[in-house]
Amino acid sequence: MGGSFRLNLSWSASRGKEFARCPRENWFGRYASWGWWKERPRGKKFEVLMHKQLTSLLAFTGLCVHEAIERWFELRRGGETLSGDELYEEARERFREGWRASTGGLWRDDPRKCAHLIEHHYDEELSEERTGKARARLEAASRFFTDSPLLKTARDAHPDTWLALESLDSFPFSGVDVYAVPDFVHREGDEVHIWDWKTGRPREADRFQLSVYALFAMHKWGTQPEAIRLHAAYLGEGSVESREVSSDELEEMSENIAASLAPMQDGHYDPDEEEVDLSKFPPSGAPMECPGCRFRGICPEAVL
Ligand code: SF4
Repeated sequence: MGGSFRLNLSWSASRGKEFARCPRENWFGRYASWGWWKERPRGKKFEVLMHKQLTSLLAFTGLCVHEAIERWFELRRGGETLSGDELYEEARERFREGWRASTGGLWRDDPRKCAHLIEHHYDEELSEERTGKARARLEAASRFFTDSPLLKTARDAHPDTWLALESLDSFPFSGVDVYAVPDFVHREGDEVHIWDWKTGRPREADRFQLSVYALFAMHKWGTQPEAIRLHAAYLGEGSVESREVSSDELEEMSENIAASLAPMQDGHYDPDEEEVDLSKFPPSGAPMECPGCRFRGICPEAVL
């Protein structure tokens, strides 16, 4: 990583959510570890990086499902397929590997490359009931993906019609890059179908994220709002919420993004050149958010 490398402000639905939860958390996540690769010997920045990479059991379970499904699509591109059992095995193998990396401390070398669970880091009890539930979720999600008629359109989409598969991309908005990683996008006739795989329960934030993907589709492929179909597939619960979007909704969405961006733009600075003004990143998550925050072990403002 060279010296001309700079920290640019960017936005994504999850980053916006993070800032709304606690601006100080956003500071830890975006600025406090900046330059860790130049730190000799490893010190504070590396420690922040390690905390930044912590993931919860629930989020890690979701990641394993996402990766297994991505593999399913890659095989499909080559004309092969995986049964529900095989997809579950793929997801379970990832889970086992991540669990071993997390408990065995393999993340110490490079925390970006290995799973490290919040629960392990903070010595929280991970009961058999909780891990059993995670396994059950992997299984239910795998089988729902391969077997449910509700996902037939996605499974049957010909590879020539695929527009995106878990690919990180962005579009410009108010001078910053807005990042979007739709799980799967394909074209069907005049319509563009955007899929989001969810392993958790339905939340309001899911709608928000899918609307960002709709804006992304407009920028990336010039899709008209009336041609966009959004699908939140709740694989663990076995349901799919499909909907259309209106121009009004997307306009409102743009206003929401601008409102979310404003305080982030106000606080943004170049950590290589400038001192931080922490008053721009108030610890407003306290006390509600602290008990679940991945930075609670290093944040002096944590209220536990
Ligand atoms: S520990 Fe609390 S105050 Fe500190 S970053 Fe996390 S949520 Fe914010």
